[in-house]
Amino acid sequence: MPELPEVEITARLIGGAAAGASVESALTPGINALKSYDPPLSELTGRTLERVGRRGKLFLVEFDGELTMLVHLMSAGRLQLFDTRASLRDRASRLLVRLDDGRELRLREFGTRQRAWVKLMRAGEVDDEETLAALGPEAWPDPPAFDELLDQPRPLYAVLRDQHVVAGIGRSWVDEILHAAMLSPFKRGSDLEPDEAERLREATVRRLGEAIALYEQVIALPIPDKLPMPLTVHRRNGEPCPRCGDQLEAVFYEDYVMCYCPTCQTEGKLMKDRRLSRLLK
Ligand SMILES: [Zn+2]
Repeated sequence: MPELPEVEITARLIGGAAAGASVESALTPGINALKSYDPPLSELTGRTLERVGRRGKLFLVEFDGELTMLVHLMSAGRLQLFDTRASLRDRASRLLVRLDDGRELRLREFGTRQRAWVKLMRAGEVDDEETLAALGPEAWPDPPAFDELLDQPRPLYAVLRDQHVVAGIGRSWVDEILHAAMLSPFKRGSDLEPDEAERLREATVRRLGEAIALYEQVIALPIPDKLPMPLTVHRRNGEPCPRCGDQLEAVFYEDYVMCYCPTCQTEGKLMKDRRLSRLLK
């Protein structure tokens, strides 16, 4: 699932390379990823792509300051910029924006589920769009103080991933951030001490910023199908903790695994494996 660092580097690279190009045509092959009908996609024809922005894990592609295309990659989408047109056999294609210099901005989605979506809006409609309007403040680069922001009686691993609370963090980076802050994923947001809240905010900004800085070095257009994830804890259960060397543990949920270091984060306590305990009931 692309999270803030992956979406940020994609927006920067595509925006930097495609700004100023004009649109020859736009189409949605196969099953329609387009979730809006007015304005129609054909209104993009002849427009200039002005910039590619990001809000949380979503892209905002702006044309002529008048139209904005909102793109949500969901769990398996990629926004890519190719020098040539897609083969009609590329079954991953969901949306193609053909530029008049021969390049193509392409929304592709991997796997069997088709969930990535696009909305085309007029500039004045962007602020009221329901997904955007419901997002919390950006997790990076300068989120507000975490003691108020996360003041909820829910565990940190859930609160930090709640896009309505703070936007941009998902399953991978939440493990890294909580490990960097040396906080238990099960500690409730409302139980954070002021120094813990500050530590968590600092760890959030630092870990996401480090990932973006690395991506600036290693990612190039067209944007790879699979971005490298510089993760040290997530999905590393069984391996040594990068800080203390003790074994990283995991809690398995139905469609999600959460990893942590008992020594660094939970005072040595092992968290119950929800999957096993449910089977044993
Ligand atoms: Zn550790």
